[in-house]
Amino acid sequence: MALVKRKELSLAEKLYLPEIARGLSITLTKMFGKSITRQYPEEPLPTTAVTRGQPRLVERQDGHLACVSCGLCEAACPAYAITIDGQETDRPIEREPERFEIDMLRCILCGFCEEACPKDAIFMSSELELADYDRASLVYGLDQLRRQRPALQRRIDYIHGINERW
Ligand code: SF4
Ligand code: SF4
Repeated sequence: MALVKRKELSLAEKLYLPEIARGLSITLTKMFGKSITRQYPEEPLPTTAVTRGQPRLVERQDGHLACVSCGLCEAACPAYAITIDGQETDRPIEREPERFEIDMLRCILCGFCEEACPKDAIFMSSELELADYDRASLVYGLDQLRRQRPALQRRIDYIHGINERW
């Protein structure tokens, strides 16, 4: 039977000194190097036009929503997160939502509602934060969903740019 020859360890090796020195050198290098820890929420996540945050409804300059309550986004939503009740109007735009709700706890930020909308009325915002104390508060209604167009303009321009390719 062949005997395994083991290397004779020095005193330093027996005391794990080389490993300790290597570990400390890595710690010191990282301590004085560039920090990669984000101090959230003081330092929020950077967003771009590609960011798919929570969907929001576009409010036109006249203060009315661009939504005509057609229900296409509701039908396209794979998470059944959207609920719309429409109503007639006296304005040239014939219908508008009386109730438009998105259950943010169901929403998977897929962007299908944005793609389905024929009226440029719903876009993915750069709003990512979502927190509350009960589920009912996270079903957003018209007041929480509406945003003036400039707030969504970066995303709108990005989506129009994509659509122009087809
Ligand atoms: S982003 Fe997707 S899951 Fe969320 S409301 Fe729109 S279609 Fe539904
Ligand atoms: S698809 Fe657009 S216009 Fe139709 S209900 Fe949804 S947001 Fe409104």
